[in-house]
Amino acid sequence: MSSPPARMDLDGNPVAPLTICMIGAGGFIGSHLCEKLMAETAHVVLAVDVYCDKIRHLVDPAPPHLAGRISFHRLNIKNDSRLEGLIKMADLTINLAAICTPADYNTRPLDTIYSNFIDALPVVKYCSENNKRLIHFSTCEVYGKTIGSFLPKDHPLRKEPEFYVLKEDESPCIFGPIVKQRWSYACAKQLIERLIFAEGAENGLEFTIVRPFNWIGPRMDFIPGVDGPSEGVPRVLACFSNNLLRREPLKLVDGGQSQRTFVYIKDAIEAVVLMIENPARANGHIFNVGNPNNEVTVRELAQMMTEVYANVSGEAPLVEPMIDVSSSQFYGEGYDDSDKRIPDMTIINKQLGWNPKTPLKDLLETTLTYQHKTYKEAVKRQMSQASAS
Ligand code: NAD
Ligand code: UDP
Repeated sequence: MSSPPARMDLDGNPVAPLTICMIGAGGFIGSHLCEKLMAETAHVVLAVDVYCDKIRHLVDPAPPHLAGRISFHRLNIKNDSRLEGLIKMADLTINLAAICTPADYNTRPLDTIYSNFIDALPVVKYCSENNKRLIHFSTCEVYGKTIGSFLPKDHPLRKEPEFYVLKEDESPCIFGPIVKQRWSYACAKQLIERLIFAEGAENGLEFTIVRPFNWIGPRMDFIPGVDGPSEGVPRVLACFSNNLLRREPLKLVDGGQSQRTFVYIKDAIEAVVLMIENPARANGHIFNVGNPNNEVTVRELAQMMTEVYANVSGEAPLVEPMIDVSSSQFYGEGYDDSDKRIPDMTIINKQLGWNPKTPLKDLLETTLTYQHKTYKEAVKRQMSQASAS
């Protein structure tokens, strides 16, 4: 068995193998991070989650070459006394656990707030009390709406970067009113960021906060009725993939005018590995992780996905590939939206020298090829069973 080559940090020092307690390891980001750490490093992972479907190939059972490198701990961090022991065993804790699908924010606001704030409290506390380093996953949604969105539609200042580029140390967090329960997630994430920051300032907690900007790729969320609930509403990549697999029009919420920057999961994971292996450069920082070059409106994303899917599947595009739906029809009352999300990259560039590489078209080709291969037959079976019953 060949062991991975010795790792060096950005300052030329060897990186000692770490034990990492990864909470939420069974999710989309966690599964890619586990794969990367197993393939390219000698770090040991204590993978914590309530599900392991996305990392089954790594843990159930661990393949012989990974013996002793990764173990799965099925536990709910809400109520399990084993959590502190696992954090104590590790050098570093990475917390990914969260309810993080927008369809839940206004329909299950209590679960959303508990998951993103209350349930994260013991993780922060155990890290602080035991002098353990923490990498906590927050979100770009803490920025909320851009300053420019409050200007009249054609106001020239809307084009000025200081009215829309989102900077970790400067931009304000602008949320809608309390009745717009969409912001329950962003507000809970903001408060846990403030608590972590305060633990750093007052008690010396070594922390890094990550703000992902729409990381997408294979294994994101679920396809409703296949590997998730039929009525479930995942994030936009899985919603549009589901529509394409079923040959139904892609639904554009409120005209699909909101803008997003999408980054390929494999690019983003490289940034996380840099944070893991360069604590002196990452501690005490909040990092935007996104790809400012991949900006599209949701309507443009739908157009691109329709074209790319036609190429990778060989199926002709639909005559009517998109339809408009209102946000209250699609998400229910209390939905609201972030208008535009361009990450400023100065801090992550300076501290970690990280830059995203993959253009949107390329990442959609890889991802939709995966979606087609993984789900097409299952979707066909599920549709024929549904029509027979
Ligand atoms: P995900 O839903 O795929 O993964 C989250 C994982 O946490 C799931 O496997 C879930 O089972 C687990 N989990 C939730 N509650 C738990 C609990 N109480 N106990 C144990 N496990 C629990 O989501 P993801 O896309 O991988 O996101 C990971 C983190 O990154 C989240 O904190 C999310 O808010 C943040 N984030 C992600 C994105 C993105 O682009 N994917 C964007 C912004 C923020
Ligand atoms: N969206 C859409 N159709 C869908 C799913 C999502 O138009 O089927 C829109 C949604 O309103 C938002 C954007 O796509 O403007 C991105 O949604 P996502 O769920 O990925 O999460 P967000 O980026 O808002 O956190």
